[in-house]
Amino acid sequence: MASANRSAQRAAEILADLDQGFRSRYLSYRELTTQVQGWARAFPDLVRLSSIGETPEGRSMWLITIGIDPDRIRPAVWVDGNMHASELCGSSVALAIAEDMLRLHLGLSGPALSSPVISRLHEVLFYVLPRMSPDGAESVLDTGRFIRSIPRDQRVDKNLARWRIGDVDGDGRAMRMRVEDPCGEYVESAEFPGLMLLRDIDDEGPFYNIYPEGTIENFDGHTIPRPTYLSAGPIDLNRNFPWQWAPEPQQLGAGPFPLSEAESRAVVEFTTQHPHIFAWLNCHTFGGVFIRPMGDKPDNKMEPTDLALFRQIGAWAQEHTGYPMVSGFEDFTYEPEKPLHGDLTDYAYHHRGCIAYAVELWDFFRAVGFDRDRCKRFVDQYTHLAREDIIAIARWDREYNHGRILKPWTEWQHPQLGKLEIGGLDPLVGIWNPPYEKIDSICRDQSAAFLRVAALAPAVRDGSIELIPQSEGLVHLRIRIDNHGYLPTYILSSAQTLPMCEPLYAEISTEGCALAPTEHPRREIGHLDGWGRGLYSGAGALSLQSSRGNSSSREISYLLRRGAQGGRVCVRVGSCRVGWFERWIDIPDE
Ligand SMILES: [Zn+2]
Repeated sequence: MASANRSAQRAAEILADLDQGFRSRYLSYRELTTQVQGWARAFPDLVRLSSIGETPEGRSMWLITIGIDPDRIRPAVWVDGNMHASELCGSSVALAIAEDMLRLHLGLSGPALSSPVISRLHEVLFYVLPRMSPDGAESVLDTGRFIRSIPRDQRVDKNLARWRIGDVDGDGRAMRMRVEDPCGEYVESAEFPGLMLLRDIDDEGPFYNIYPEGTIENFDGHTIPRPTYLSAGPIDLNRNFPWQWAPEPQQLGAGPFPLSEAESRAVVEFTTQHPHIFAWLNCHTFGGVFIRPMGDKPDNKMEPTDLALFRQIGAWAQEHTGYPMVSGFEDFTYEPEKPLHGDLTDYAYHHRGCIAYAVELWDFFRAVGFDRDRCKRFVDQYTHLAREDIIAIARWDREYNHGRILKPWTEWQHPQLGKLEIGGLDPLVGIWNPPYEKIDSICRDQSAAFLRVAALAPAVRDGSIELIPQSEGLVHLRIRIDNHGYLPTYILSSAQTLPMCEPLYAEISTEGCALAPTEHPRREIGHLDGWGRGLYSGAGALSLQSSRGNSSSREISYLLRRGAQGGRVCVRVGSCRVGWFERWIDIPDE
């Protein structure tokens, strides 16, 4: 015991030495690389580091695999962060989940989880991609400019005027520009100097137009184009995935064709080769909400057992984080009933058969003091902001965020637009991402919520084994195969028809004995149910308590002929979705 304590103590010291500070700030690519390489070097029995691909700017898309015996295929979960360049907190949460799993394997304290959950987690493999868009994130960290996903623009149409976002005044940050204009759409707040408010009919001016800090490409000297959230790069990776992909203009940000980008392609290539991934957490910022399937249909069109499962996961998620879990279609279409195309979690749910959902980290609205129930659909929280709400945000920034968001305006002579002011707004830390002081608690809550989901993994193993002697040197081998996990071996009801959702098979090989001539070494076992039923599936009603038979178990049997010394057999059972296990069984001589 003393030596176990000593080795845990030593492991804790190593982890502390390797820590690059992702729970208290946002790491650069170099720091993130140091972090994951450090873990892989220090704990080779628990961590594999690989790159699923290289970005056009030459950065690795680091993937960490965590688990005891990390190369053994078994039920696995996937976590990705930072597919949207400015959403840096996703990297922190993904790294925190990886580190918490490391701590769990090393016998160190981590999220408060029950011992049954912890013991299940010992068997689950974790794939963690902390930064899907390292080029995008690096550009945001270096310049402060808003980039949706990737800092590339390979559009073939080159004639239209468009904004080039970047640092104009040489202070190293790309913020906002305001230009005084009698037709301006904004005014400055009287009570909060520098804070800009949408113009109202009673306002007296002066009035301003607001643009991103930058210059205009193809400027004709007077026409100012409308900036968009895709001005710094026309592709949104979260519209570039293959499930129900649709081109522009039907889907803004779609890219020229599905998986046109190195980042999205690498994710799909890896996960296609790893069908044992059963749960998928896609980390975004901000808002404080989990967004689950379906993205394109209302809940009454969803497989009811899938829905019951998501209800359970949503209840845990709320318990740990305070965030609600909402349907993408019902609460998160920017225009009601107009689904997004090419979304990652839709791909993961429909194509990969995963319990997939996104989280918008950082409950900004509640931090500022807004009532969660002020909007019927969650997505409206982002836009239904009255003047007093904007002022409340400014006050919160000053009192609780060290004024990181609202910056003074400074006069500048712009090469194209003439005299204007630069500054105003830097939303990176406080809006797009939580304040540094909040990262740690967000990491802890999110990790606990997701680790519980990971513990749903199916767990196929052998149950009772019987050897029944028969006449003439024959012996009858009977093995019960059990699924001890919450989830069935097909994971989701909606996934059962996917080609990769193959049934379990058993195959026997013999040493020093033989199969009876009538026997074939391969047996189809089929799928095994798990014991879990989701939340409010109907099975919870007291008056209806009743199990589904013993559908989590199946018995297989083989007739064997003993060898002179008895012999032994190996039974291998599994599928590509849940991995395989092998059991060696000695056959005694008579
Ligand atoms: Zn996002």
